Amino acid sequence: MKLHRRKFIKTLGISIFVVIFQFKSLYAAAKKIVNSNLSNKQKNIMFKEGTERPFSSELLNEKRKGFYYCANCENKLFASNSKFDSGTGWPSFSEALPGAFKTKTDYTFGMERVEYHCAKCGAHHGHVFNDGPRESGKRFCNNGLCLIFKPE
Ligand SMILES: [Zn+2]
Repeated sequence: MKLHRRKFIKTLGISIFVVIFQFKSLYAAAKKIVNSNLSNKQKNIMFKEGTERPFSSELLNEKRKGFYYCANCENKLFASNSKFDSGTGWPSFSEALPGAFKTKTDYTFGMERVEYHCAKCGAHHGHVFNDGPRESGKRFCNNGLCLIFKPE
């Protein structure tokens, strides 16, 4: 009886491990490095959900007309008219282009935050908050290192 139970627990343990492992590799498969020129800093943000230092992005002062693209896969993400100065130190946008991102609720640091990532390559870009000053009410707080700006 005891032996059976031990065997059952062991089998159950392995099954759980296999399920978690498969889930993890499925999730990992959705993320893909396309741009082999990404720096370590960019990879840390985009694939390990890191964050750049506030006020470090050159894009903070970018005010030209154009579009912002994913630094990894060049997916078109934001139009310049949605950019605003949030004072947080990260490039901020009131809305993303349709279908640009997918979201996931993130519980890191004991806070509930909505993380968003590129719908095409899965790279993490930032978090979206519901305290935006414009009509959408949204504030996309994006790491500048994940973006490429192309003026029009
Ligand atoms: Zn991408």
